[in-house]
Amino acid sequence: MSKQRIAILPGDGIGPEIMEATLSILTATGLDAEFVYCDAGMAAMEKGKPPVPPETIETIREIGVALKGPTTTPSGGGHSSANVAIRKALDLFANIRPAKTLPGLQGPFANANLDMIIVRENTEDLYAGIEYQAHPDVAQAIKVITRPGCRRLVKYGFKMAQEQGRKRVTAVHKANIMKLTDGMFLHEFYEEAKNYPDLIADDIIVDNCCMQLVTRPEKFDVLVTENLYGDIVSDLCAGLVGGLGLAPGANIGVDCAVFEAVHGSAPDIAGKGVANPTALLMSAVMMLRHLGRHEQADRITNSVLRVCSDGKCLTVDLGGKAGTKDYAVEVIHQSKALPAVS
Ligand code: ATP
Repeated sequence: MSKQRIAILPGDGIGPEIMEATLSILTATGLDAEFVYCDAGMAAMEKGKPPVPPETIETIREIGVALKGPTTTPSGGGHSSANVAIRKALDLFANIRPAKTLPGLQGPFANANLDMIIVRENTEDLYAGIEYQAHPDVAQAIKVITRPGCRRLVKYGFKMAQEQGRKRVTAVHKANIMKLTDGMFLHEFYEEAKNYPDLIADDIIVDNCCMQLVTRPEKFDVLVTENLYGDIVSDLCAGLVGGLGLAPGANIGVDCAVFEAVHGSAPDIAGKGVANPTALLMSAVMMLRHLGRHEQADRITNSVLRVCSDGKCLTVDLGGKAGTKDYAVEVIHQSKALPAVS
């Protein structure tokens, strides 16, 4: 295969550390790639650029695929989210967040064998960023839901579920209260479901969904939902399967895709060399599969499974003592012990 170009956005906080670890693993598994570095987030602003410089968007658009570290978004003021800006600029409408239990890890559902995928709408909803101060004591935000936006998302969710041999697709919503917006989402969901008679299609109200996720998570398979609910529910699911350090994600558009962990820039542990790179690494695995590089994807996945089930080289968030680099070295070591990639 020819050299693969990949746009790399190291990001803020723990981003550069976990990116370095991830790229060292990708390189060690024999991926013939050219990494094209781009600025985003605080790193861009420190150079006097906007949080998402136009040249970063152009590079991702031209290459078609990017691996992105987390970017910091200040709460209640400051600059707007680089993540939201990238997703909107590149029309990355589907955010795919798998939540799967890894062997050997502790946690309330360590033995539950959870294997869910959250398919989150990525460009609309309250995240459209339409907020204004109507009065000194009144602030308003507009929730934007469009029929084409709902339809392409649910279409992607059902198609992905079928391709992956999944059995059930569940719409998560609050259509009992938001009858027009969430009602439209739900209507489009069931319209699209008619094209997939072999899949079970059902729906659940988001609050009930959260309750059932922490009591009977094994009953869920593919969850399709709007932007805000998807953001919250996917963090909840990350917690069920071992924490944010393990939760990968992909932002998929028509022409390009950006792969990034569910977690943020973790400023509390940045620069200490203790962050868990697994979430970004498994996002890179999703990227490899998107690119058809299944041998490298399998090799890294198997190596991570070995390191986790062995339990001797876990990062601090998983109850271990290993630093980011120690963990990366161990994943590389275990990957070399696996049978050769043909
Ligand atoms: P941001 O504002 O960028 O979203 P945040 O701190 O609010 O940052 P996260 O970065 O998602 O949100 O972090 C939430 C918690 O999870 C923090 O305590 C952080 O240290 C921890 N955490 C997040 N990612 C990791 C990781 N990869 N490894 C270890 N701990 C992590």
